[in-house]
Amino acid sequence: MKTKAYSNGEITILWKPEKCIHTGICVNTLPKVYNPKSKPWITPENATSKELIDQVEKCPSGALSIKEMQGNVKIEREDNGKKGRYVIYYNEEFAGEMTFTWAGKTKFIIDHTGVEDKFSGKGLGKKLVMKSVDFARENNVKIIPLCPFGYFGVMVPPVSVKQCHFERYCNYIKN
Ligand code: SF4
Repeated sequence: MKTKAYSNGEITILWKPEKCIHTGICVNTLPKVYNPKSKPWITPENATSKELIDQVEKCPSGALSIKEMQGNVKIEREDNGKKGRYVIYYNEEFAGEMTFTWAGKTKFIIDHTGVEDKFSGKGLGKKLVMKSVDFARENNVKIIPLCPFGYFGVMVPPVSVKQCHFERYCNYIKN
């Protein structure tokens, strides 16, 4: 699939034209970066990396994504059967965590997610979320998102596909 890349020197936005469903969400939420009347139509240098990442997460079709950051990212999972956490390391340094509590054997509640300030803008929070979604998928369990971090904030039940910016993950969200 054709992919175009736009960089601000720090991170790179990837855009797949064939996936774009032209909702205009990117243009409305970050007009200083997305302007269909300009060439190139995406100018990431006009926003911070955090603004860019936050916006890309709102793209409903997956047409927009962020190229993998340079640096070694590692996520470890701890689970004592009642509570647990995902810990993320960036170049072997602690960078953040996401904690959860089991609610029975088939559901777990994500209650907190935090990324250290010095690692913000690298998409690490999203990586933590995706790791938990992968776990839910592989083990056929559901997630109850209580964390206000934002990635799950739009999916607090009841969730409709229309409301959900991450509809491709909704099967794993308890509703
Ligand atoms: S938010 Fe995504 S799907 Fe919508 S117009 Fe922008 S790139 Fe296309």
